[in-house]
Amino acid sequence: MNVLRALAALVLLLMSAAPLRAADQTLVEGPLTVVVPESVGVGQPFVAEVRLVNQVEKVTAEWQGRVVEVLMSKRGREFRGEVLLAAGLEVQPGSHSLVVEAVRPARREMVLGKIEVTPTAFPEQRLNLPPSTVTPSKENLARIKREQALIAKAMNEAGDRRFWSFPFLRPVPGEVTSAFGLRRILNGQPRSPHTGIDFDAQKGDPVHVANQGKVILTGDFFFNGLSVFIDHGQGVVSMYFHLSAVSVRTGQHLERGQLVGLVGSTGRSTGPHLHFGMKVLGQSVDPMPLFTAGGPFDRRPGG
Ligand SMILES: [Zn+2]
Repeated sequence: MNVLRALAALVLLLMSAAPLRAADQTLVEGPLTVVVPESVGVGQPFVAEVRLVNQVEKVTAEWQGRVVEVLMSKRGREFRGEVLLAAGLEVQPGSHSLVVEAVRPARREMVLGKIEVTPTAFPEQRLNLPPSTVTPSKENLARIKREQALIAKAMNEAGDRRFWSFPFLRPVPGEVTSAFGLRRILNGQPRSPHTGIDFDAQKGDPVHVANQGKVILTGDFFFNGLSVFIDHGQGVVSMYFHLSAVSVRTGQHLERGQLVGLVGSTGRSTGPHLHFGMKVLGQSVDPMPLFTAGGPFDRRPGG
């Protein structure tokens, strides 16, 4: 009886100590093993871990219609690699396919997995802003269109070459003042959801790049103000908005933690703060899990 009770207490303790994370599933096909979560909430990033017992030419992962190469490295007697994927804000809840393929000179192995994307209940946020910024003028609409095309072009040019590695670094130390995914009502009108997170910061505070990468775009945009876009490779892009100064130029290579600019309140902003956004394979992702100590993304390269 007492043994049972102690056991139950231990199970409860273990459950409460475990980070919030869905159970993993292990998919095996011959020498190829893939470990991914069974389910992911809308807006959440996740990692696909790939293991192989023999050398291959190339490993690719296909998710949401996009294909990325998985970089493999020898670890002990096997080859291992990992790729950062996400159920972006734009993804519909339901069962989604993940295909991982290993190509060898004579043959190929393929693993087909199903990941359940579950709905996330994002809270509502009501904001009052100057009417001219909520309903832009004709001229500003033309400007916004031009800027959207520029941003889309830069995103398309983001490369496959992987620069990022764990861990990701929080760009400023401040608290989150506006969470990812908030359903925003501006001056009483429903608008697009918050695709990044707002960090509390003072004007002039340094902003650091979250990981190694290459600057793909800088500029002064109608909504985002002074902005920096960074390609971390394999479809991972980070964005830093409303800056008061930009310290980098397009094409520049940055080490993790390098200065990208200073906090400001440029563009459509109610006061100094850093809006930090992240895209994975073109979809908006909540970056907070990447910064959470002790969480599933808190790991070192080779760990
Ligand atoms: Zn924001």
